[in-house]
Amino acid sequence: MRSALNRRAFLQNAIRTPVGKMTMRPNAHGELVSLLAYGAMRLPTIDGNQAGLDWGGSPAPIDKPEVFAQVDWAIEHGVNLFDTSPCYCRGESEGMLGEALARHPRNKWYVSTKLSNFAPETQTAAASEKMYRTSLELLRTDHVDYYHLHAVGMGGFEAFKKRYLDNGMLDFCVKERAAGRIRNLGFSFHGERKVWDWLIERHEQYKWDFALIQLNYVDWRHGHALNERNQDAELLYGELVERNIPVFVMEPLQGGKLAKFDYGVAEKLAPLDPEATPAKWAMRFAGSPPKVLSVISGMTFREHLEENVTTFSPLKPVDDREKAALEAAAEELVSARVVPCTACQYCMPCPYGLDIPGILGVLNRALGEKRLPDPKSPDFEKQRRQFLLDYELSVPEPLRRADHCTGCNRCQPHCPQTIDIPREIQRVDGIVERLRI
Ligand code: SF4
Ligand code: SF4
Repeated sequence: MRSALNRRAFLQNAIRTPVGKMTMRPNAHGELVSLLAYGAMRLPTIDGNQAGLDWGGSPAPIDKPEVFAQVDWAIEHGVNLFDTSPCYCRGESEGMLGEALARHPRNKWYVSTKLSNFAPETQTAAASEKMYRTSLELLRTDHVDYYHLHAVGMGGFEAFKKRYLDNGMLDFCVKERAAGRIRNLGFSFHGERKVWDWLIERHEQYKWDFALIQLNYVDWRHGHALNERNQDAELLYGELVERNIPVFVMEPLQGGKLAKFDYGVAEKLAPLDPEATPAKWAMRFAGSPPKVLSVISGMTFREHLEENVTTFSPLKPVDDREKAALEAAAEELVSARVVPCTACQYCMPCPYGLDIPGILGVLNRALGEKRLPDPKSPDFEKQRRQFLLDYELSVPEPLRRADHCTGCNRCQPHCPQTIDIPREIQRVDGIVERLRI
C-alpha cells in the first residue's frame, strides 16, 4: 500500500493529459480492446486506502462514488476492458464494477472475470457453477467477455485437476462459450510449468482465446531467477505468440514495486527521459510486445488511472536503448535479492496473525533503497534506526510481526509467486533480532 501512496503523492503535482487516443489492439475475433484494462482488485475505500482480497486491505467500505467516477473517466478516455474476480475486495468487486458499468451502454465495455474456486468448498461442480452464475448476476450481464480459469499453476497440477478437470468445469466453460455466454475463454497463469504445458499442448482442443501472464521488465528475463518455480515472461510470451494466443498482462508494476525510483532505475533511465516516472517506464515496457492485447493494472487512486491512460494514449513502445536500460535496472533488482512479493495477499490470513506482505515489504524497501543495515557501513546506525522505524510503522501490532511465525508453512502453497514465505519471514526476523541488540 505504501508504494501506491508514494506514487500517488508524486503524481498529485504532475500534469496528466492524454495527448492522443488510447492504443487499441485486436483480439482473437478482431474486436478492438484498449491496451490498458482497469483492474478492480484494489478498489479505493472511504478511508483513502485500498481494499484487499477476501481478507486484508482496508476494512473500510469501498468508496462507491470514487469507483463510479473512475470508471466513467476511464470509459471517456478510451478504456473498454474492466477486470475483476469473485475474490477481489472481499467479494465486493464484481458487484461494484457491475453497478458502475451498468450505467454505460453494454457496447462501450468488455468485462473480464474468473472462476476463483480456490476454497475446497467451492470446487464441486455445483458450487463452481454457482460462482460463475453469481458473477453474471453481479456484473448485470448475460455474457462475460473474458472468462479466466483463475491462477492455474498455483498449488501444482493436483490443484488444477481438482478445480477444473475432476469437477468438469473446464468442459462446462467450453460449453458456455459455445452458447455465447462466455465470449472468450482463457486462463491466468502462476508458476507450475506442468500445468502450463498441459494447457498449451491442448490449444488445438480448447482453442484458448487468451492467456494472462505476469509480465514486467524484471520478470521478462528474471522471473525464474527470482524464483526457480516461476517462468520467465519472455519464454511464456514466445510460446503464446507461436500459437497465436493473445496475451493479457498482469503485475506490470510487480505489485507496485516498480512504481518507485528504486533499484537504480532513476540513474539508468533519467538520461533517456528525465520527466518519466518509474511507473510510466514499467507500463511502457509491459505494453510494448506487439501481441500483448491488454495490460491489466489494479486501480486505486485517480492519479494512477490518469497516468496509466496517459502512458497508453498512445503507447510509445520502448526502443532498443530503453529496453537495455530497463534490463540493466532489472539485473540490479535481482542481484539485490528482493523478494518478488506483489502484496496480492493470497497467502493471508496467516493462522497465527502475521502480516506477511507487510513484513516482506519492509525487507524489500530496505533492499531496494540500498539501506539494508550493514554493520560495516559508516551509515549503520542510521540504517538500523530507519529499518526498525519502517518495521514498527508498517507492522504496528507486535503480534503480527515475524517473530510470531511458527513455520507451519500454511501460507506457502497459496503464493502465486511461489515465495518460500517462512524462510523469508525468518530472514526478516533474523535481521530485526540482530538490530535490536
Ligand atoms: S509459516 Fe509463518 S507466516 Fe506462514 S502461515 Fe505459518 S505462521 Fe503464518
Ligand atoms: S507472499 Fe506471495 S501470496 Fe503473500 S502477498 Fe506476497 S506475493 Fe502474495
